Amino acid sequence: MKVVLEHLTKKFPNRNRKIKEDVIAVNDFDFEIPDGKLIALLGPSGCGKSTTLNLICGLLAPSSGRILFGDIDVTKLPPENRGVGLVFQNYALYPHLTVLQNIMFPLENLKGKDKMTKEEMKKKAAESAKIVQIDHLLERRPGELSGGQQQRVAIARALVKRPRVLLLDEPLSNLDARLRLQTREEIRRIQRETGITTVFVTHDQDEAMSISDMIVVMEAGILQQIGKPQEVYDDPVNLFVAKFLGTPAINVFDGRVEKGELVIGKDRVLKISGVPDQEVTVGIRPEGFWVDDEGPLLCKVRAVEVMGRDVSIVSTHEGSQAEQIRSIISTDFHMDTTRKEVRFALKPRKVHLFDKKTGERIRFEVKE
Ligand code: ADP
Ligand code: MG
Repeated sequence: MKVVLEHLTKKFPNRNRKIKEDVIAVNDFDFEIPDGKLIALLGPSGCGKSTTLNLICGLLAPSSGRILFGDIDVTKLPPENRGVGLVFQNYALYPHLTVLQNIMFPLENLKGKDKMTKEEMKKKAAESAKIVQIDHLLERRPGELSGGQQQRVAIARALVKRPRVLLLDEPLSNLDARLRLQTREEIRRIQRETGITTVFVTHDQDEAMSISDMIVVMEAGILQQIGKPQEVYDDPVNLFVAKFLGTPAINVFDGRVEKGELVIGKDRVLKISGVPDQEVTVGIRPEGFWVDDEGPLLCKVRAVEVMGRDVSIVSTHEGSQAEQIRSIISTDFHMDTTRKEVRFALKPRKVHLFDKKTGERIRFEVKE
């Protein structure tokens, strides 16, 4: 089931009563979530992720705009009639019920022609439990399960009514690091197996990048960029997106374009065309550096860390906005770890320019 957001806006009266203007939690969202895909809503806390999710499931009504499931307008439909499954950060299981009873719970209230016998409910619940691989735990109570297992119960419960759309709001935040990795793989597998259109909310770029078909990067209620994770990483539309994606983060420098050259501090680092002379913000991905004794960017070495496949060089440069620059070089290159200075050449595709004021991307061509 594809989900379409049409000029969707949600305003709230400001929680701080002294501020008269409304908070625009979701500002004119207009995009489509393709059928059967897993998309991540990614952005910092307070950017409107949960609000978007609650609009899709119907717990909140939009201030303006429409939501369609397939071709059907569901904007006015109550949540129980939308066919959505919901999973939140806190598992919200009933402690006194067994796993089986927890998963069955949504089926108990079905009425009319949908009403099920106890046996049918048990069968359905067991099927759901099997999908998330907790079918051996059905008689336990939530208190006897690990956090990861509890979250699986919550997912099974969300799946039991065979939802058309599955909505997950930071479902991994309460899990420890190891379980978080494991459970996110699990969510990916379940989504692939069931083919249910899924919206996954997270503030963790690593999580979003690793499991989704598409990511929607948002900030302060405004959609910044939408695309495949790798595309958004390789081709960010602005400095916010460039900085939000990637670990280690992109290195940011103050630079300028001068007669067809990109200059950082005293170093003339790239010959470019298509950009008039101006001050710019320069972003260089950690993997965008080569160690090259003829290279134009001269940095002072702070530390060289060999990490298996890669060498991480921590260095400084007067043009860098952060105190340190982090570059990642393949260990195929033998770096003398005692050197005090290093010269870098840059991989042009890993260098992005941004408008000094607006942060918008400035595109350039490389001159040989
Ligand atoms: P996120 O899930 O990305 O952390 P939210 O969607 O919860 O963000 O919130 C987006 C913005 O809307 C925030 O500024 C938040 O304070 C505000 N907001 C959310 N819900 C309400 C509400 N019920 N009343 C007033 N403001 C709200
Ligand atoms: Mg939230």
